[in-house]
Amino acid sequence: MPRYRNSLDGWRSRVKKVSFIQYLFGVFVLINLLTLISYRGYIGTHRRGHLNLKTATRFMQSLDTLERKIKKIEEDTVRNHEVIKQIKETVRKLVKGDNTGLERLGEVVDVVHTQRLTDRPVATVVQGIAKDEERYSVMKFAVSEVEHEVCSLAEKPILTADIKMSQVFDENKFDDPDGGVWKQGWDIQYNVNQWNQNNKLQVFVVPHSHTDPGWLRTFEDYYKLQTRKIFENMVPKLEEDVRRKFIYAEISFFSLWWNEIDEAMRNRVKRLLSKGQLEIVTGGWVMTDEANAHYFAMIDQLIEGHQWLDGTLGVKPKSGWAIDPFGYSSTMAYLLKRSGFSNMLIQRVHYSIKKYLAQQRNMEFMWRQQWDRDGSTDILCHLMPFYSYDIPHTCGPDPAVCCQFDFRRLPGSSYKCPWKISPVAIHSLNVQERATTLLDQYRKKSQLYKTNVLFVPLGDDFRYDTPEEWDKQFNNYQKIFDYLNSRPELGVQTQFGTLTDYFTALYKSQGVADGVKPSTVSTLSGDFFTYADREDHYWSGYFTSRPFYKNLDRLMESHLRSAEVIFSLALSYARKVSSTTFPSVEFMTKLVEARRNLGLFQHHDGITGTAKDFVVVDYGQRLHGSLNDLKSVITECATYLMSDEKDKYRFKGAPFFNVDEIRESQDSLPKKMLLEVDAEFRPVLIYNSLAHKRSELVKLVVNRADVEVRDAADNVIHTQAEPFWVEKDQFSRDKFKIAFVADVAALGISQYRIRAVSYRSNPKHHVAAVTLMNCPSLEPSNIPPFDVKKSMESEEFHIENHLIKATFAKDTGLLKSVVKADGSVHTLNLTFVMYGVKNAKEKSGAYLFLPDGEAKPMIVSHPLIRIIRGPIVSEVHVLIQYVEHVVRLSSSPGSDGASVDIANTVDIRHLFNNEIALRINTNIDNQDRVFFTDLNGFQMQRRKMYDKLPLQANYYPMTSMAFLEDGKTRLSILTKQSLGVASLKKGQIEVMLDRRLNQDDNRGLGQGVLDNKKTPNRFRLLLETRKSPQTTNQAIGYPSLLSHISSFHLVHPLHMIPKNTKGPDMKLRRMFVPMSTPLPCEIHLVNLRTMQNRDDSPELKHVPRETAAIILHRLVHDCSFETHSLSCLPSNGKVIFKNMFKDLKLKNIHSTSLTLMHVHKELDPSSVIQLQPMEINTYRIALD
Ligand SMILES: [Zn+2]
Repeated sequence: MPRYRNSLDGWRSRVKKVSFIQYLFGVFVLINLLTLISYRGYIGTHRRGHLNLKTATRFMQSLDTLERKIKKIEEDTVRNHEVIKQIKETVRKLVKGDNTGLERLGEVVDVVHTQRLTDRPVATVVQGIAKDEERYSVMKFAVSEVEHEVCSLAEKPILTADIKMSQVFDENKFDDPDGGVWKQGWDIQYNVNQWNQNNKLQVFVVPHSHTDPGWLRTFEDYYKLQTRKIFENMVPKLEEDVRRKFIYAEISFFSLWWNEIDEAMRNRVKRLLSKGQLEIVTGGWVMTDEANAHYFAMIDQLIEGHQWLDGTLGVKPKSGWAIDPFGYSSTMAYLLKRSGFSNMLIQRVHYSIKKYLAQQRNMEFMWRQQWDRDGSTDILCHLMPFYSYDIPHTCGPDPAVCCQFDFRRLPGSSYKCPWKISPVAIHSLNVQERATTLLDQYRKKSQLYKTNVLFVPLGDDFRYDTPEEWDKQFNNYQKIFDYLNSRPELGVQTQFGTLTDYFTALYKSQGVADGVKPSTVSTLSGDFFTYADREDHYWSGYFTSRPFYKNLDRLMESHLRSAEVIFSLALSYARKVSSTTFPSVEFMTKLVEARRNLGLFQHHDGITGTAKDFVVVDYGQRLHGSLNDLKSVITECATYLMSDEKDKYRFKGAPFFNVDEIRESQDSLPKKMLLEVDAEFRPVLIYNSLAHKRSELVKLVVNRADVEVRDAADNVIHTQAEPFWVEKDQFSRDKFKIAFVADVAALGISQYRIRAVSYRSNPKHHVAAVTLMNCPSLEPSNIPPFDVKKSMESEEFHIENHLIKATFAKDTGLLKSVVKADGSVHTLNLTFVMYGVKNAKEKSGAYLFLPDGEAKPMIVSHPLIRIIRGPIVSEVHVLIQYVEHVVRLSSSPGSDGASVDIANTVDIRHLFNNEIALRINTNIDNQDRVFFTDLNGFQMQRRKMYDKLPLQANYYPMTSMAFLEDGKTRLSILTKQSLGVASLKKGQIEVMLDRRLNQDDNRGLGQGVLDNKKTPNRFRLLLETRKSPQTTNQAIGYPSLLSHISSFHLVHPLHMIPKNTKGPDMKLRRMFVPMSTPLPCEIHLVNLRTMQNRDDSPELKHVPRETAAIILHRLVHDCSFETHSLSCLPSNGKVIFKNMFKDLKLKNIHSTSLTLMHVHKELDPSSVIQLQPMEINTYRIALD
């Protein structure tokens, strides 16, 4: 258990201030006393032989720690008599040999240490009202020292890959010479003698159809108008000839069709699958975006697809297929590998990187995780070489030739070849010429790869939707194949194949078993961002496009996770008491819908913000609908778990509890529910979906400014009242914000109770001090208990908590610098900047970022500034054009107290072709302008600012965090949603907040991005000081433990569930604590997901199964940073399942592949499971 200290309220309230002289005298006495202990106490005792060496060392260490802490106290400016008296007393005892006093001394010092940095007047003094008001001080969490084994993981040598993408970036010139017919490559030559009848070029032509689940049409319209026809034609057309093959990827569409077809058709599909004519590739719900998607959602949509496939068809995909995502993350390679895949294929990689790899024939490689220590993450990856995945760019280097082999474009079709030479149908008279022309392209393409097995895809967007196309493609190609295969002297064997057919032949040709690294293939580590398809057209715009929906996505994601976990728990408890009233099917229905809606949005035109406006609305409605459903599942499950009389629980009628906020529509901002309180206590449930205990600042909106809040133990806790701002300098008369710090157990629920009390009668209730600067009106709101001051401050101003003092510029109200409790001073100069659009033929749009040069700072001059100071939370609000900007410091013992919280509401609806970014200039000396950005919230990737690349190329996706650092300090920016990030100058970091673009960027969307909304975003700035010099491998970066946990806390806030006044009454527990052993700090519960029925029929699909998937992620952290503000303990990645849950018995447990397709082995629940660093493990558990 963590060392957890109470605030010693009674003691602290007696504290009186002393003068600086008295303080100095105190310190002087203290230091002298300590010196005395060192010589007389310790040495003396030792000589007398009363202490052995071990105790003596520990004693000495304790003294050292004390001395360090006392040194910190010296730095504070206000001290008090009482403390020193107590310290002196205990020191005196120590000198006499009474060691029991040492711990007491430690406590006293700790309490002083956690005191506010400076003893500036808090609200009570400013307001001068309640004289009995009790001082609030922050409790302190301390994590016991992280064991060295845990620390050293980040420092262990990694298994270096042959090709490191960071090195490729360093070496590659990124020039763009004209390569001839292969514009971005070169004129490929080959020696025809390399093939003969014993050594044939083996060509697999792989028919495919790329079906976007939403882009220019909605998911449903695409299904009805196009995709359904593909499936309908696929079955009879494949059946016509056993040599025909087809691959398909998106299960969102496929499952839709499956539910429409009869048994006979289903059997025909199953036959095609078992004969290997039809192959499901990847088998995710969608072909996920890899820049903005979080690994939670990437895994979830994979599970949804794989569970459907396995349950419905008994199909387990082996090969990944990602031809359209706009850049690739190594996280996806990892997820596929751990799902049991051996192979994968990617396409949209920077043209210059493709050329670089192709020149060394490294277009196929074993993609290795950069943190891999034994090669177990290697997965064979095929990179397509040319511009696109359409037929003109896949048969060989010359699109004018390849286009002639897209028989959908035969004369008479609406599809044409832009190179002006149309295809001709194959017949006996032209087959020789046609076949050898195509063979020439195949041979040239094969020169880019190391083996004699060649992959040639044959398809495009929404292809094979008519029977004619099937006939045209298959018949004409078969004639060519027959011709080529009948002439052994050509040394070629051609056939239709699936993706796995191709990889199987490749392994065979190299004499290795499936999935084993062929000796000719190199290993590669790193990722493939930022993508450019031509010239300086970098696809870094979509890292930010439609940020409103990127925000909604992450909100929905955290709600889904929370709902999954609490539903799984509630279901187990309901089963335990054989409940007949727990509505498991209703909730499962909502969960399955939510999984599928979130999955759908991970599509590479969903979360990317690259679909048509009305398609975005369709996604938005799905997310919004599911968000409401999930809130209801969370609320009801929490009610059930907290109910003392579970048999009386009913899911009908008025709910016991309300949700805490509502969104009226998919495009509106949430509104906090007003909690109406009176003299009666009104319960509010607070649910923590994370598997470790947490303390965190929460806020409620209530109708009374004077309240009393009691925690689960019935103690009155400290609360703070703040105005509820309506606009500018006006706040509400009947709505107030109440802030307090809530404590909730791992996966637990705590009941807090709130009631109204008479004016200023609660000594633990504090009123925030409000100061307005640059007030626009003569009469700002000023309603008691608030006493609003108009500031005449001419200097900079600041707010602070127990760890941080933040200073702001008075003319802009923006953050300037931060002083930490250790005395270190850091420049953090925050500005907003604006990018324009390049004046060229092609301009910025949904995909592309093409700025007109460097960003220009936004002029901020004397905006309205609200300064709200209080003992529990302090905030600065700055209202500037386009942004409402809030900086917050919470006096919370949790991770939220350790960072600067930033919340913006951005509104650029009136701008023309502009993009707005938040920029922070620091004094961090990051060498070589190196910085780190995360990949899908799973791992950190090293980045470097390159002058040889245009500005837009130096923008990267940021899913959850980025940091830059020097030998002493690291600044991490944690984000609640995906956005683009860059570090363009030394010590600088900037995040794109929103983009408004008045034109299309010529990538098929056919519109600009003009559906901007009032868009929220949220960040935490974490400044960390290195304890020891940097020794870790600079190629890889790991967040600190505090940074990991802060990120989880930011993304998964506590759920507030207020009592519905109109709901019925019921007996409630004070607390629900399901875990007997919370998970250690370094293990994150990714999900606890009840498995849905194997049968996806409408009647059965929502009956939950008895098993659940528990997914655990072992985090690796850089432990050269201090660990504080956490209430969890590290355990070197060890867990014992049996010890996890209090009341629930584990029937059995199996380790499985990531998406549960492959069961590995049954585990003994009482055995110690050792999770490996960085790994995500899935277990199938049955709870009793
Ligand atoms: Zn696509």
